[in-house]
Amino acid sequence: MYDRKNNVLVDATKHHLDVIENLNPACPACNNYKHTLTLEKFRIELSKQVERAMNSCNFRLALKYKQIIINQSPIVFYFEKMQNECT
Ligand SMILES: [Zn+2]
Repeated sequence: MYDRKNNVLVDATKHHLDVIENLNPACPACNNYKHTLTLEKFRIELSKQVERAMNSCNFRLALKYKQIIINQSPIVFYFEKMQNECT
């Protein structure tokens, strides 16, 4: 869920718990795309983006001429990286 006031990503399932532990910084584009998805559903949707982009002839052409490199690494959000580094 997009919290415009604080410009943060809010877990919609935990919105009733409007506490700092449930807030994670996110850019407006990610906030908009996530909308009401849970964090795990958002991660799944993000993982489908390359497959969706393959419908674009521009994307396929850029891939063919190696202007794009597909990276299939797991999607780890910034706050997860920070949590892992701090533990
Ligand atoms: Zn973002």
